[in-house]
Amino acid sequence: MLRKPFIAGNWKMNMTAESGAKLIKELAPLVKDANCNVALCVPAILIPAMTQAAKGTNIAIGAENVHWADKGAYTGEISCEQLKEYGVKYAIIGHSERRQYFGETDESVNMRTLAALKNGITPIVCVGETLSEREGGITEKVLDKQLAEGLKGVENVADVVIAYEPVWAIGTGKTATDEQAQETIAYIRKKIGQLFCPKCAEKVIIQYGGSMNAANCKGLMAQSDIDGGLIGGASLKLDFATIVNFDK
Ligand code: PEP
Repeated sequence: MLRKPFIAGNWKMNMTAESGAKLIKELAPLVKDANCNVALCVPAILIPAMTQAAKGTNIAIGAENVHWADKGAYTGEISCEQLKEYGVKYAIIGHSERRQYFGETDESVNMRTLAALKNGITPIVCVGETLSEREGGITEKVLDKQLAEGLKGVENVADVVIAYEPVWAIGTGKTATDEQAQETIAYIRKKIGQLFCPKCAEKVIIQYGGSMNAANCKGLMAQSDIDGGLIGGASLKLDFATIVNFDK
């Protein structure tokens, strides 16, 4: 298999230590025979407890963000070293909610991405257009900039996971059609081929994210360029297991 599928959840600012651990315990037997890599990206404060809850399972725990500096005066931020202490393998970077509400830019996305890679944490770099950008016909232009600036200086692009998340589909219940998602993700792969090399682009895992759920995951995952999903709302319930088992 050239690219092993990868299904990751994004809990956002949801769950507690108790409800999160309960969900992981319930999910674990349901996803244990998955043919894909599985992760749950959880709020920083829950990382120690969720790492403990997921011990001995095939569910990896990821973070929802990571800072670029090794340490220092960055109140409220979390470093790679702090994440590594708990065996965190993945960090979401540049989620559209971070870009929209917390001033995340392609430049800060780039700094966070390079820091994660340097520390052996796989960055899940989010890109995607807003509704007005899609309707204005500038989706490709927006993606070009997010990819070129966000991935600047990356040595081995196959170490990065890309999540294509059209902003208009996140948390709205409005999913991109299978064809829209495939077409845009194929474009992203082509662009990565131009920015790096076509062979490297073939190795990059590109997820779709945006109201992916138990009902629509099969169609999306059947698309040749879609290698996985970044799942928000549906990762807060047992539906996540159905998505992980999309091929069964
Ligand atoms: C997300 O948070 O990345 C996401 C895709 O959310 P949802 O699945 O709820 O649209």
